[in-house]
Amino acid sequence: MLRLCRIEDCRRALNSQQFRRSINSNSPSNPAQTFATSWQRPCGEYTGISIYNHRVRGKVPLILRNPHMVTWYTCGPTVYDKTHVGHASTYVKVDIIQRIMRDYFKYNLITAMNVTDVDDKIIRRSKETKRNWQELARDYDAEFKEDMLRLNVKPPNMRAHVSTNISVILRFIEKLVKNQQAYVAEDKSVYFDIAKCPNYGKLENISNVERDLQENEQGKRNAADFALWKAKKTEDEPSWKTKWGGDGRPGWHIECSAIASMFFGEELDFHAGGLDLRFPHHENEEAQCCARYKTNQWVNYWLHTGQLHLVGNQQKMSKSLGNIITVDEMLKSYTADEFRMACLLSNYNNAMIYSDQLMLTARQTLNKFRNFHADLNAYMQFKKAPKLLDKGALQAQLNHMVMEFDNSLRDDFDTSRAVGVLMDQMSSISRCINEQADAEQEPGYCLDLLLAAGNFIGTSMINFGISSLTDKSIEKSQQQNANSSAKVDINLLVADLLAVRSQLREQAVKSSDTKRNELLELCDKLRNLLQQHGIYVRDHKQGSSWVYSDQKSVIRRM
Ligand SMILES: [Zn+2]
Repeated sequence: MLRLCRIEDCRRALNSQQFRRSINSNSPSNPAQTFATSWQRPCGEYTGISIYNHRVRGKVPLILRNPHMVTWYTCGPTVYDKTHVGHASTYVKVDIIQRIMRDYFKYNLITAMNVTDVDDKIIRRSKETKRNWQELARDYDAEFKEDMLRLNVKPPNMRAHVSTNISVILRFIEKLVKNQQAYVAEDKSVYFDIAKCPNYGKLENISNVERDLQENEQGKRNAADFALWKAKKTEDEPSWKTKWGGDGRPGWHIECSAIASMFFGEELDFHAGGLDLRFPHHENEEAQCCARYKTNQWVNYWLHTGQLHLVGNQQKMSKSLGNIITVDEMLKSYTADEFRMACLLSNYNNAMIYSDQLMLTARQTLNKFRNFHADLNAYMQFKKAPKLLDKGALQAQLNHMVMEFDNSLRDDFDTSRAVGVLMDQMSSISRCINEQADAEQEPGYCLDLLLAAGNFIGTSMINFGISSLTDKSIEKSQQQNANSSAKVDINLLVADLLAVRSQLREQAVKSSDTKRNELLELCDKLRNLLQQHGIYVRDHKQGSSWVYSDQKSVIRRM
């Protein structure tokens, strides 16, 4: 049944206060004038979030059919080689938005992903390496999962392999053939008939799709018809039996339509994938499902992540072009948090130019967060001189940060702007707690406001999936300490070491030049040594504070 909004419902939603807020704050033009022409607005609850929609070349309001169950499908990997950072950037960016939806906006998000374990590339690689195709796919799938864990990407709630869901795919194809939206060719391959799909090309805004009705050599009716099922060509390739006769295997596009529908039925809130999948893969997925379910819109919100390029290279990173850096290689030089920060700073839909410069910028940005937390902790532990702080101004800054952060994420998940908002607040607080105190005046500590700001900033980073700045790493380390046979408390050990180091520093100040330099060198040596173990020390006038520098350091101590 065609699912359309009732006109009164849509009118009511358009006039709602929340939607007016979206138009005023999030978009320079009135989105209601543009999206209505091609994108079909879902019926449901307006979220106050706007999302870029390629069909209307602008932002549209995010409306959820059911805010208590939001569905999200992501195109999974084709497992025939190692994961490179181009692929990884897609999954990290998708993970960031899913975390924002779940952990910041508090939606009950249900996620699913397919794994393409039968494909031309897998068969080719299997022949090249003389390995069984299933074994090859299984190994690379395990590597992919491991890489995602290392990048702190949360696994989907549901994950399905193509080879174990062939019956679902076959049923989908049979339905399309029965409805005459697909046809069986002479060689027993099955093609989707785009002549029966008047909206074909709608996602990409292509109106001149070739509809040549002359039969070509492949047995297709139209040049643009695409394969739902590929007839078996050689004896040694994987194949399954069909009702229409002949063995074969599924085409790539039908896998996603069938598996996503198996999980979520005939309508989907979100569907994500790399920008390179928008056409033809997503166009074909949409066409297949609209045909199967007799609807005008299967996916309400398509999210496409920008491609990753190597610096100086115009082409996207791709296995077939041979210009790849694997996740493994990247993690030898940088941390998962640094890669994630690079993704946060580029926003999900922008292209990323991968370079050492980009990664060093990400590292410096993370260090600013790390230094801020170390400074704030030192202030809270009275290791810094108390300051006269303006409570009213701090309160106003806190309110402003919370509001601007929220506005940024509601504006098409603008993470780069959101990180900037947090950094502005950190700079302001750092200036306050590090500037010279006026000894004459009674200090106003404002510990509650500073902690509130610090908590908000820390929680926001956790919500983005940044793991090394959080107390979790400390908790984890404490847990590991508790479980270790030695029962060494790292926190106490470091505190004792730093107390002795502080005494050395005090001694240095009172000593002659030569002695002072010797003592300070020893202090630096100890600090560098601790840093090698993942313990980052910050010196202040009245003592030193420390934080864990990254997650790796915790693992090293295991
Ligand atoms: Zn897909």
